[in-house]
Amino acid sequence: MSDSSNADLIPADFLAILRCVNDAHPRDDGVLCIRGNTLVCTVCGYAYKVEDGIPNMLWDEAIPPPDVATASP
Ligand SMILES: [Zn+2]
Repeated sequence: MSDSSNADLIPADFLAILRCVNDAHPRDDGVLCIRGNTLVCTVCGYAYKVEDGIPNMLWDEAIPPPDVATASP
């Protein structure tokens, strides 16, 4: 396989209905895109792991983006 985009991580129609669960922005805005083995929110940047084609949409297990991990004043 020469395709490294991982577009097959989950079906496109499944991805289309998934939304980021971050309360910091409206749910409908939280469109997700595939990055590696995760789904990344295009608004807040939080990433959700996908295992065996099943996205883990638990907020407690979401991966924060690097610029949120550092404390801000
Ligand atoms: Zn989000």
